[in-house]
Amino acid sequence: MSPRPDLGPRPRLGYTQSLIDRVAERRLDTAWLNACMTEPRTRAYVIGGELIVLKKGGGLNEAAFAPDEARALAPATESVFLGLFDGAARFGFGTTQANAEALKSRDDLLVIDLRSIAIQGLVAPDELPPLAEAKAMLHWHARHRFCSNCGVKTDMVDAGWKRACPACKVEHFPRTDPVVIMLAVRGDRGLLGRSGRFAASMWSCLAGFVEPGEAIEDAVRRETMEEAGIRCGRVKYLYSQPWPFPMSLMIGCHAEALNDNIKMDENELVDARWFTKDECAAMLLRRHPENLTTPPPVAIAHHIIREWVESDAVF
Ligand SMILES: [Zn+2]
Repeated sequence: MSPRPDLGPRPRLGYTQSLIDRVAERRLDTAWLNACMTEPRTRAYVIGGELIVLKKGGGLNEAAFAPDEARALAPATESVFLGLFDGAARFGFGTTQANAEALKSRDDLLVIDLRSIAIQGLVAPDELPPLAEAKAMLHWHARHRFCSNCGVKTDMVDAGWKRACPACKVEHFPRTDPVVIMLAVRGDRGLLGRSGRFAASMWSCLAGFVEPGEAIEDAVRRETMEEAGIRCGRVKYLYSQPWPFPMSLMIGCHAEALNDNIKMDENELVDARWFTKDECAAMLLRRHPENLTTPPPVAIAHHIIREWVESDAVF
């Protein structure tokens, strides 16, 4: 057996370890929320659909604007209160994707999608979790303006943490969609797949939405069977990651594979195969002889694969 490769210090998982204190009790305090708008340390993110507006900087860019500055950029659709960041209020200001798109012509701004911001490290890492919170919240509001019970236009209340129907009185809450993402392992080999959306050289963990009435462990087993024809036994939860594309929670697991023969679902994947730990280590380090890679450290798949490569045995 080859010695375990040294992969260096563990990178931070993107969008996690939020410094935001959500202070939920403040969401009902309209007077305090209004007063925040003139507080000098209050900041707001400006988000139009998939696009984030950044203020260009010498090295890193600024993600957070003073409220007046943010409002002057584009008319706001909704504004949501995210919480306190270093004791100061943080908001997400929504605008339309077209308004954000129009700001691309300004030399002092960088208007770009959140995946690129995270992968390229365009803002301080501590800005990523509140950006994810703001983007997911604003997406939910943009898609849930009408009551799903009676069809009437709803009102945003509680600083964005609820929508209330004036007609039937039903309350609607921001949604997070759970997704299982797993590495099925069998001895020294782990199962990776390729979606047609991936860059040509990239392989990743299999993943899928948890369905109603389903436990995480059962979702892991079902998805691995559906996508690759691999039966799984034990499932071990590792960690989770907010994934605001548009509003998911990735639940990272290892699963014990019980058979070898892959039977791929061609509607879901373009390829699936077993990789050894040595191969995965080379992919993580970007040293694979065929230039195959794993997703970057910002993504949970990178950490799930690495966790396995660095362990003696996961089951
Ligand atoms: Zn209603």
